[in-house]
Amino acid sequence: MTAINSPTFDTTYTQLPEHFYSFAEPTSVPQATPFALNLALANELGIDTAWLSSDAAAQALVGNTLLADSKPLAQAYAGHQFGSYNPQLGDGRAHLLGEIVAPNGERFDLQLKGSGPTPYSRRGDGRSPLGPVLREYLISEAMAALNVPTTRSLAAIATGQKILRKGAEPGAVLTRIAPSHIRIGTFEYFAMQGDQAAVKQLADYCLQRHFPNLAQTEQPYLALLNEVIKRQAKLIAQWQGFGFIHGVMNTDNMLICGATVDYGPCAFMDQFDPDKVFSAIDRQGRYRYNQQAGIGQWNLVRLAQALLPLLHPNGEQALACAQQALDAYVQHYGSAYQRVMSNKLGLSAPQAEGQALTEQLLAIMAEHELDFTQCFRYLVDQVATDPTHQIIGNIFAAPDELILWQKQWQQRLADDAQEPEQRYQQMNNANPAFIARNHQVEVAIRAAEDQQNFAPFEALLNVVQSPWAYQPRLRSYALAPTAAQTVKNTFCGT
Ligand code: AMP
Ligand code: MG
Repeated sequence: MTAINSPTFDTTYTQLPEHFYSFAEPTSVPQATPFALNLALANELGIDTAWLSSDAAAQALVGNTLLADSKPLAQAYAGHQFGSYNPQLGDGRAHLLGEIVAPNGERFDLQLKGSGPTPYSRRGDGRSPLGPVLREYLISEAMAALNVPTTRSLAAIATGQKILRKGAEPGAVLTRIAPSHIRIGTFEYFAMQGDQAAVKQLADYCLQRHFPNLAQTEQPYLALLNEVIKRQAKLIAQWQGFGFIHGVMNTDNMLICGATVDYGPCAFMDQFDPDKVFSAIDRQGRYRYNQQAGIGQWNLVRLAQALLPLLHPNGEQALACAQQALDAYVQHYGSAYQRVMSNKLGLSAPQAEGQALTEQLLAIMAEHELDFTQCFRYLVDQVATDPTHQIIGNIFAAPDELILWQKQWQQRLADDAQEPEQRYQQMNNANPAFIARNHQVEVAIRAAEDQQNFAPFEALLNVVQSPWAYQPRLRSYALAPTAAQTVKNTFCGT
């Protein structure tokens, strides 16, 4: 029999001063029943899949036992929530078990979410209901399959504990993997207290951990700011390309490493509506679809402000550096968005004509309330060169205006030097057939909550993990919701 190896930790965050975190251990729960184990991710991370499948892993990842070398901690952070500053947030229901180093040398946080109270819990119970854990698992893995930078889900484990929300709900713990959980709000936490030494320590830590090549440059802190700006711009452009609405883009939910985090009230939209909002608490529509890029910049202003004293010893010059970096966001976002959209339309390079085509298309989609995902997939069907390509066919009906638009688009494609085969590949890799549709996510959550039936969750997970090729046998997952199925609001899941 071969030995089973539990993960080994190599945690660097504890080298930072003690006011960056609080050591806190997860609280025990009655049961540890895994309902999702991500063996493929375990393999990528160099985690023994035999261990992950074992009861020992379930006990450790629900927080009932401690792994060797793990000294769990909750991280301190602050953040702007819906525009207002909250000086004291922090991991109120999460425990960082430690950092692991994957075989390819990349370092990741292994964190439990929903694992009990910490010194940052305020009035919260430190727990997470099953529903939001399922939602985060599904959507984070869907995003990974779509090649959007994201935190990942390694395991989801039912606790057998009822927790009180609107009523009594089953509880669960998610094992989250992230390049790190350092947020814009982590910088704000120290900067707003005037603790410049801590801001510098955190910035140096981020440079070492995420951008070691920038640490050697002449102005490393400005380079850090520029890099975070570039990554945020690119990330949000990718969200736009998949109709993804994050829903709670507070500065404590924006990671320095540029990965999507905090799948609370998020959703992929069905019918295209540029003003779409799902989150029940976002009454002003602050985080609506067409506002995400602007909010990204607003958040980065908060980061720039926190970094200001590091950018230049002279205050005015520091401001000028920050301003220049923030101004560049608009270009970074604009070119990333154009790249996303030209990939979706099969154009070999972004150009003005492509922009105009995109705008016209989105206007038609909004006017006719077309399904965002289906409409782009329908365009892939028009350029398919692969005889095994399956068209979405009778699912999507193109209105006359779209057919007219297509003529212009086809003409533009004809002028493009790109080979048809290459164009098809390009579009096929930018326009998924399957997204984690909100009504399907709800079906999966309901079945799990009401009947302990995880089959709909597993089936949906399988579908969204292979989002690109349409398959007629999975037709129901590509359908838009009926009026009765439509989910109007999503909730934070706290
Ligand atoms: P979120 O909306 O998930 O970004 O959480 C915002 C803040 O509230 C973070 O500091 C969380 O740790 C904290 N929080 C959310 N839910 C709970 C809970 N059930 N118990 C304690 N803290 C929580
Ligand atoms: Mg959060």
